[in-house]
Formats: sequence, C-alpha cells, structure tokens
Amino acid sequence: MAEVSVTKDAVPAADELVVLKNVNKHFGALHVLQDIDLTIARGEVVVVIGPSGSGKSTLCRAINRLEGIDSGSISLDGKPLPAEGKELARLRADVGMVFQSFNLFAHKTVLENVTLGQIKVRKKSKAEAEEKARALLDRVGVATQADKYPAQLSGGQQQRVAIARALAMEPKVMLFDEPTSALDPEMINEVLEVMQQLARDGMTMVVVTHEMGFARSAANRVVFMADGQIVEQATPDKFFTAPRSDRAKDFLSKIL
Ligand code: ADP
Ligand code: MG
Repeated sequence: MAEVSVTKDAVPAADELVVLKNVNKHFGALHVLQDIDLTIARGEVVVVIGPSGSGKSTLCRAINRLEGIDSGSISLDGKPLPAEGKELARLRADVGMVFQSFNLFAHKTVLENVTLGQIKVRKKSKAEAEEKARALLDRVGVATQADKYPAQLSGGQQQRVAIARALAMEPKVMLFDEPTSALDPEMINEVLEVMQQLARDGMTMVVVTHEMGFARSAANRVVFMADGQIVEQATPDKFFTAPRSDRAKDFLSKIL
C-alpha cells in the first residue's frame, strides 16, 4: 500500500465537513462577511468569538442558509449548499442550529417539538420518533418534562430541549449562536454541560459564545472575528495566552 503523508496541521480532504471559501455578504452598504475562508473538520469544535456586530451570527446563518451570500462558496460534506426546496429542508436538518432565544414551537409539547422534524423531514414513524425523542430528552436531562409546553419550562430546560430537537435530526454539524446569553446565570452551566458532553461524543460544533471557560475546555480552535473578518484563529491555549492581533488583545482585555 502506498504511504500517505499528511502534515500535522493539514486537514485531510475527506475530513473537511464545512468549507467556506472567500465568502462575502453585504447588508446594503455594510460588508458583514469579508473574504471568509474557514474549514471545519469532522469532529472539530470551533468557538467563534468577537465583538458585537462582527458578523458571528451572520456566519452561522449563512452555514445553514438562513442567509444567502453574495459571493464565494459554502459546502457541507463536499456538496454546495442547496438554495431551495426539499434539499434545503434536508440541509437545515443536517445543520442543527441552537439560537439565543430558544425558538421552540410554543403550541407543541416538549415531546412534539422533538418528534416533529423527525416525522416530517426524516420520514420516521411516530413511534420511532418518540422513542428517539425520549432518549434524547433523557440525555439532556429533561425526560420528565416531555408532556409539558415550552412556557412551563425554565430557560435552561427550554434550551436543552432545543438541543435535543436539533440532535433528533442526526445533524452532521451543530451550530450554537450564543446559546446561554439569554439565560439566568444559574442555568448557564446546565446547558454548557450538555454541550461539553456533545463535544466529547465527537459532534462537529460551531459555537458562538462569550463563555471563555467553555472555549478553553471544549474548543479545538478559537476563531476571532472583528468587522466581518476572521482576524485570527488558534488553539484556545495559544489564543488566550498569546493573542497576536491588537484587536484580539483589546477584546480579551475587556472580557477576561
Ligand atoms: P454578531 O452576531 O457578531 O453580533 P451579526 O452577524 O448579527 O453580528 O451582525 C453583523 C452586522 O450586520 C451588524 O452590524 C448588524 O447590525 C448587521 N445586520 C445583521 N443582520 C442584518 C439584517 N438582516 N439587515 C441589516 N443588517 C444586519
Ligand atoms: Mg450575534
């Protein structure tokens, strides 16, 4: 067998799950994503940090096509993102997203929230979907809440249901956009712990967060954005102890 040499830092092509190449996006005159090149490997946990307005949410939204882009390309598992139709619904299932505001269906029970997509998009039977939903609700620690409505749950519980709902679709990658920013302080850890476990289980994750403890312990890589650009990226250890850019140094001095 021929030997394959892979340099230590290079990502083998087969392991590239999400690839953004030269992505640009404007909102009117505002150039919100500027020449973004970003490759996320299968199983990698990437934490995205940066000042408010730097384009972090837009980046996440572009990856599951809640926002279109003006130029460049984004691919998932080797295929360009579809723009519409059934393919788009499938993409949204493949790219799980958890938002700051939990975004559960208010008029569905917790269990229904976690079964709906499985039945409609993944074409599972109700029984199969419910079995999976109960297992996932158990995994995120809210099994006993299955028959309640979202408003009857605490914020931390709702966010864990939102994570279970995304996981029920068996996504290839999970995007978290400030998942703990709307939570009361005492509920932040219960959500971060679920995310930590997910990271340990090998899920590919992109996490926008201000929780630097999570970044330090769970991230393989920190991506620092400012003004629509990726200013620098490094392992958490390198980034937090020796940021290279003035922008990152300034940002860290304000939050740490
Ligand atoms: P972040 O998540 O880093 O705070 P965003 O991606 O939400 O940043 O926003 C980046 C910039 O784009 C901000 O200046 C924001 O006001 C602007 N923006 C975001 N969404 C829209 C939109 N739909 N229309 C116009 N401007 C937007
Ligand atoms: Mg944001």
